[in-house]
Amino acid sequence: AKRIVVKVGTSTLAHETGKLDLYRIDHLIRELADLRNQGKEMVLVSSGAIAAGLGKLGLSKKPDSIPEKQAIAAIGQGVLMHIYEKLFAEYGQTMGQVLLTKENSVRHHQYIHSRNSLLALLSMGAIPVINENDAVAVDEIKIGDNDNLSAMVATLIDADALIILSDIEGLYTANPSTNPDAKLIYEIPEITPEVEQIAGGAGSRLGTGGMMTKIQAAQIAMSAGVTMVIASGSREGAIRGILAGEQIGTVFPAR
Ligand code: ADP
Repeated sequence: AKRIVVKVGTSTLAHETGKLDLYRIDHLIRELADLRNQGKEMVLVSSGAIAAGLGKLGLSKKPDSIPEKQAIAAIGQGVLMHIYEKLFAEYGQTMGQVLLTKENSVRHHQYIHSRNSLLALLSMGAIPVINENDAVAVDEIKIGDNDNLSAMVATLIDADALIILSDIEGLYTANPSTNPDAKLIYEIPEITPEVEQIAGGAGSRLGTGGMMTKIQAAQIAMSAGVTMVIASGSREGAIRGILAGEQIGTVFPAR
């Protein structure tokens, strides 16, 4: 695999307190930089702007009003990019921020523009860092979650693999936080109604999508020929291990 999209969720980037997990962010960026050094093209789809914004403002929970949420996303996006830019630079890499909305993926001419811009970044050797443009996107033009966004990005640039890092090892037979007997599933060859059902529950407190949006992402990725893996963002070297063919997390093989 040569062109890899890595999506990292809020639950991986932030502590339970809502503050950023700088240790983990540092490890993630170092691992991406190291894979870039090995000649792989890396793309990061990062959530966490709202958590970063809340932390910066000293708030502990999301406001209800949409403009306030958007404002916090705008503040947090800058905070997050500042950290990413600093760490990537420290590890000798160049990044470029790309903020997308649904318009960029459904309208054909814009779709081409986003694709070309991402490919240009890659050909310059840069690491695109992507998020939804939450400061301006309202519901009608929103993809809504970064799992689906990352699958669209992976499809858009014909990635070889999409790795979704979450706060859990992969897809379990039931939600492990409520069902202690739940078992990790190593491979999902096909999205069946049973698979959709076991992914049904809500996600963690800070995350948004839970497993449901990850299954939607798998559907998009698999049918576009992109293999997707869900793995734990707290497992050190997870990305490297997956690319080396180790059995980590849940694999959704491309058809
Ligand atoms: P992220 O912020 O990484 O996108 P989420 O919190 O949105 O993560 O989703 C991961 C959470 O989904 C898990 O921590 C778990 O609580 C919940 N979940 C629900 N059903 C399942 C399942 N069948 N297998 C694994 N996790 C599940």
